[in-house]
Amino acid sequence: MIKVDGLSHSFKVGKKGNEKEIPVLKNVSLAIQKGEIASIVGRSGSGKSTLLNLVSGYIAPTDGKITVGGTEVTGFSEKEWAALRLDTFGFIFQSFQLIPSLTTFENIELPLTLKGVPSSARKTKVTEMLYRIGLDNHSGHYPNELSGGQQQRVGIGRALITNPEIILADEPTGSLDSETEKEILDLIKELNTEKGITFFIITHDEEVAAFSDRKFVLQDGVLKEEGVPVEI
Ligand code: ADP
Ligand code: MG
Repeated sequence: MIKVDGLSHSFKVGKKGNEKEIPVLKNVSLAIQKGEIASIVGRSGSGKSTLLNLVSGYIAPTDGKITVGGTEVTGFSEKEWAALRLDTFGFIFQSFQLIPSLTTFENIELPLTLKGVPSSARKTKVTEMLYRIGLDNHSGHYPNELSGGQQQRVGIGRALITNPEIILADEPTGSLDSETEKEILDLIKELNTEKGITFFIITHDEEVAAFSDRKFVLQDGVLKEEGVPVEI
């Protein structure tokens, strides 16, 4: 479902004329199969977010290739990336990234509005999702009226509402206490089993990694897979 082949990335830093190249990812290769929960663990600064930003097309690699669902996306235009992010990917963030002026219902509804789904279909889908994530009683609440765990449920509902094939998550439990973290991981596991969605989770938390089907470790920009990699 996601294949990364010899991916390297360097950032240019410093003043023009006196720039330095800082290598952040070094020849990273990985393969994640459809329906798997894969995680990448690594310390702060090891390059995890950079890898996720490359896979979601927010930055372009210095070298290497990325394939999503059999299509090479490395040379995609901004328009093609935008379509991929809206149709194929769903995103979950550490800081939830909800819109403060929108209710639970409206935050989850937003991607459907962007996709041009008619109002009545949006209402049906969002109502169903609110039940699924256990927030049917919090439909009219604003983000600041919800707990951290509830806000992340909204984040998950919003990520899933468009039926994406792949969820990309950057430290999804990073802002939660350990009990709430377990709740959110259970919900992710359930949705993964029910819908066969592929999850690509970035974390520095071994507990998150432990519940994954496939685990990678990123250390100073070098990626290693734990266990036996599957040839795709
Ligand atoms: P992680 O998510 O594992 O904490 P990041 O991918 O955010 O790590 O960062 C990896 C390294 O790349 C860090 O040393 C960071 O300072 C550097 N870095 C990240 N983004 C940029 C950028 N836009 N410009 C320059 N350096 C960056
Ligand atoms: Mg990060």
